[in-house]
Amino acid sequence: MATAYCLKCKCTRDVSDPRYETLKNGTLTVKGVCPTCGTKLARILGKAAKGAIR
Ligand SMILES: [Zn+2]
Repeated sequence: MATAYCLKCKCTRDVSDPRYETLKNGTLTVKGVCPTCGTKLARILGKAAKGAIR
């Protein structure tokens, strides 16, 4: 499970329904929803994580 910082909760949450995207420059990002408040979350995982998930 990926985690991201929720601005609304002001703490790190597990990302609900995480979707991984790789940017054109090779940076892996994860986008999802905060399970507590429903705010959209996004986090940059970095190039090092590429290949670890897919
Ligand atoms: Zn939240």
